[in-house]
Amino acid sequence: MRVILLGPPGAGKGTQAEKLVESLSVPHISTGDMFRKAIKDGTELGTKAKSYMDQGKLVPDEVTIGIVRERLAEPDCQKGFLLDGFPRTVTQADALNEILTNLNTKLDAVININVLRNALIERLTGRRVCKSCGATYHIMFNPSKGDTVCEKCQGELYQRADDSIETVGNRLDVYEEQTAPLIAYYRDKDLLIDIDGAQSMEKVLADICQALEDIKQ
Ligand code: ADP
Ligand code: AMP
Repeated sequence: MRVILLGPPGAGKGTQAEKLVESLSVPHISTGDMFRKAIKDGTELGTKAKSYMDQGKLVPDEVTIGIVRERLAEPDCQKGFLLDGFPRTVTQADALNEILTNLNTKLDAVININVLRNALIERLTGRRVCKSCGATYHIMFNPSKGDTVCEKCQGELYQRADDSIETVGNRLDVYEEQTAPLIAYYRDKDLLIDIDGAQSMEKVLADICQALEDIKQ
């Protein structure tokens, strides 16, 4: 299946993607993860992306579209993909259409995870991520059994620089201005599926799986 996870920062896209890739058997493509890896590896892409990410701004479209174009052309994407955090602008969504048309394929669904702003702030500022495997936790809602280390790999947990209270508000404003228009964009294409993201992680996962089953029929 070819699926986009849409929703504001903190909605639970990464959390759900970690689970969904197991049942869908497709690669999880997170542009945020790709940029963070590039920064860690000290590549040119990382240098370009870092200043935008630190301020909670979007990395320019041409840079972001370029890395997704390359990634979707890799063989493992032939069986499908789960896009997380891309597209984030109408220009990116138009480019994705063009990329998929050239690959002779199209999207199956856009899952829009809805969560209110106050809850998003609480989720983002309490998020902790494993330095080694990238697993996501929350200090209150999903604490690691290993406390300050990852329960899966014992890696060190850290708080993303852009999850500080100072940057989070900016990221949510950027979402409203630049990404929220994609809700109408994909609704018009009859691809949008709304999911209530304020529920427990398990219930959100069950609702997404049910919605994807329904469109298979
Ligand atoms: P996104 O990828 O959309 O930015 P994440 O999946 O990283 O969001 O989730 C943001 C934070 O909220 C994480 O700390 C995660 O553990 C927590 N979280 C995710 N889903 C839920 C949920 N349904 N209820 C409570 N907290 C959640
Ligand atoms: P995320 O991990 O999805 O929360 O993304 C973290 C940051 O990476 C964002 O705040 C942006 O600066 C950058 N980023 C990730 N995906 C995109 C995208 N599709 N377009 C532009 N910038 C992005």
